[in-house]
Amino acid sequence: MNFIFRGDEILLHESSIDFPMADACALIGAGADALQPLWVSDEASHRTCHVARDIEAPPGFAFRKLRAVLAELGEYGAVASRAFQVSEWVRTHRYCGVCATPMRKSEKELCFHCPACGFSAYPRISPAMMVLIKRGDQILLARHATYATARYTALAGFVEAGESIEEAIHREVLEEVGLRVKDLRYFGSQSWPFPHSLMIAYTAEYDSGDLKIQEDEIAEARWLGPGDEVPDIPMLESIAGRLVRANLPSA
Ligand SMILES: [Zn+2]
Repeated sequence: MNFIFRGDEILLHESSIDFPMADACALIGAGADALQPLWVSDEASHRTCHVARDIEAPPGFAFRKLRAVLAELGEYGAVASRAFQVSEWVRTHRYCGVCATPMRKSEKELCFHCPACGFSAYPRISPAMMVLIKRGDQILLARHATYATARYTALAGFVEAGESIEEAIHREVLEEVGLRVKDLRYFGSQSWPFPHSLMIAYTAEYDSGDLKIQEDEIAEARWLGPGDEVPDIPMLESIAGRLVRANLPSA
């Protein structure tokens, strides 16, 4: 299977969820030499690469937003997510970040080595926390100021250098909505390839404080209780969608 990306778009057949074969890939400069295997011993021959932004799709194919088609890809959704992260890693590690020498691919693992100074670079994974705050039979839903989709969801933010996930949760909750929380409980995690996050989700109980939103991050935050109309919440395929649905107040 060939996973060809242009920016945040994936190349698919124009009228179906079919991936391009080698001949179509070669037409846009994604020949065998340009394709990166997703695993070192990749028996399924899953390959990926990024093409330049000005490349047009070959006849019969179209570039579509990966985020929009992820659910339609079914069993290949997770593979496409990995492919996007691997192709992004290849695209952004052509030269050593220490001494600017062209990097070489390891044959033993998914790693770039610098032949001059020995620096290694693996695909980047950025942990991010997500937390749904509960207060009695209510949950706190927020609409992020920067996201295009104005859905009501749990709070989220990247873990900073030197922090544990739990420390990131306490810091982000205080910064974004002015609350203190307690009784953190792990819910689950999900790889989120936009561009290389690992979402780690928790629930927490309200402890103290009054709602005070950080306006450049959060457009609106409100408590949802039993009988309240449920607003537009994230899709079920995302961990945010599962976290919110698992904790909706019963009417
Ligand atoms: Zn180097």
